[in-house]
Amino acid sequence: MTMRNSSQNKYIGAHVSAAGGVDQAPMRAREIGANAFALFTKNQRQWAAKPLEANTISAFKANCQMLGFTAEHILPHDSYLINLGAPEEDKLEKSRAAFIDEMERCHQLGLTLLNFHPGSHLNKISEKECLAKIAESINLAHRAVADVVAVIENTAGQGSNLGWKFEQLAEIIALVEDKSRVGICLDTCHTFAAGYDLSTLDACEQTFAEFDRVVGMHYLRAMHINDSKSTLGSRVDRHHALGKGEIGWSCFEYIAKDPRFDGMPLILETIEPDAWKAEIEQLRAYHQQALSGTDS
Ligand SMILES: [Zn+2]
Ligand SMILES: [Zn+2]
Repeated sequence: MTMRNSSQNKYIGAHVSAAGGVDQAPMRAREIGANAFALFTKNQRQWAAKPLEANTISAFKANCQMLGFTAEHILPHDSYLINLGAPEEDKLEKSRAAFIDEMERCHQLGLTLLNFHPGSHLNKISEKECLAKIAESINLAHRAVADVVAVIENTAGQGSNLGWKFEQLAEIIALVEDKSRVGICLDTCHTFAAGYDLSTLDACEQTFAEFDRVVGMHYLRAMHINDSKSTLGSRVDRHHALGKGEIGWSCFEYIAKDPRFDGMPLILETIEPDAWKAEIEQLRAYHQQALSGTDS
């Protein structure tokens, strides 16, 4: 591997619990040595949520400031119920309203990214129609709420979920009017399960070159750092602890050392929260090796 120079930092964290209120999340991130984190701003398995209270919002902002977390390294994730490509009009409208509410909550919290899964065609409409609905959903949200970037997460392609092929991500972006407010979060487990190999350094080079060719690295706004229980191309979404799955440490070392992944949230959604602190430490150790040029 070539020596790389980078003065920028790596922003590494995990998807932490917001139990007891979103204002509790920054402390949980701090406990595991994170300088980035992800969270749900409402119960991810329910449609309705109480509006955020003014004192919760101010406590969240104060805690982030106190602990040194800034908006560009905090990656809120939307509800699992939302389908921005839903075939049926009533479900689509419900999803769009819920998504706008999620984006509004981010805006109230002073956050600038919203991570979401693109949507599913449920075998009722074509892939193309579904992708167009997803893009239009993003356009509607952009018109409704200022400043927040819609960060599309690639999927494993389980069931009828779209966004597992890089071409599908590119097609959504092509139909989004405000390109400055759309980006991609690549989940390493989903990428691998979707058929893009990440299990060796060479495979990583090829997969990210392919992403750059089809979508463009400049759209990459975040990463989810997960190993995979399921095999390459299995289209099955099963996260694993780093180094314990089918992907292995090479990929995570590659991401930690490569400056193209600097400055964006790198978020663990691995299945052993007790291991998060150690996983973050190992990723930082690889980053330090790259900075000091000992990885020749
Ligand atoms: Zn996700
Ligand atoms: Zn993910």
